[in-house]
Amino acid sequence: MRLADRTALITGAAQGIGRAIAEHYAREGARVVIADLNLEAASATAEAIRGAGGEAMALAMDVTNEQMVDDGFARVAEAWGGVDIAIANAGIQHIDPVHKLAYSDWRKVVDVHLNGAFLVTRAALNQMYDGGKGGTMLYMGSVHSVEASPLKSPYVAAKHGLLGLCRAVAKEGAEQGVRSNIICPGFVRTPLVEKQIPEQAKELGITEEEVIRNVMLKNTVDGQFTTLEDVAELAVHLAAFPSAALTGQSIVVSHGWHMQ
Ligand code: NAD
Repeated sequence: MRLADRTALITGAAQGIGRAIAEHYAREGARVVIADLNLEAASATAEAIRGAGGEAMALAMDVTNEQMVDDGFARVAEAWGGVDIAIANAGIQHIDPVHKLAYSDWRKVVDVHLNGAFLVTRAALNQMYDGGKGGTMLYMGSVHSVEASPLKSPYVAAKHGLLGLCRAVAKEGAEQGVRSNIICPGFVRTPLVEKQIPEQAKELGITEEEVIRNVMLKNTVDGQFTTLEDVAELAVHLAAFPSAALTGQSIVVSHGWHMQ
């Protein structure tokens, strides 16, 4: 049990990568808070985790809504005494070339990834600094935190921005015992990715199979998708790491798509 007695809040954890991390964390002994825009799906995830013997609660949280984020963290403090680990994972994607991109779509993507991560960070740090108990901030970056692809400019820009937030928190939080790291996965087959395959095929005028082979996995060493388990295991490792030797770091988990 690498995370026994720790409380972890994970945004966007109703499905996909966030859910996989929540399940993995619960198996490692953590109490998990499934914070998501979609309360019904978050409740189903929390129930599944409890069914498997873990401790979990669901929270309705739109990470772009300051009040909802602060209220959500306050509920965790009441129920479980505050968070030890917070993961800014909630995310969306939008496919369009820059010259056709609506400002509203740009703002929506940046708002969820970057502004949402700020709101979650601020609320989490206030709980971690309280009484000097410290903790771990994790950000769900992407290979797009360190590389660009066409058609995803707001996503690429926001994911690059998360690197800066992660590093700033590592410097500010050190004295208070807070470590901060960012996980940068390659493509993982979640609903977010399944949705972009036909969208990219249409935009680029190629087949869905070609999107997978020649766009998504082209630069990996072995043509493989990164898995939910790969990302969840790294998230456990980073939260369980015993010292600030590992802080302010970006870890790329992408089958060699990007090597740094
Ligand atoms: P997903 O679409 O499967 O899940 C995203 C979750 O976030 C959903 O449950 C959704 O309801 C929730 N969400 C969306 N907007 C929200 C908001 N405003 N407030 C709270 N919750 C919100 O996506 P995923 O693939 O699991 O992605 C999770 C994270 O991983 C994202 O930040 C994404 O950018 C990142 N990521 C994904 C991949 C991949 O290939 N799937 C690769 C690199 C990084």
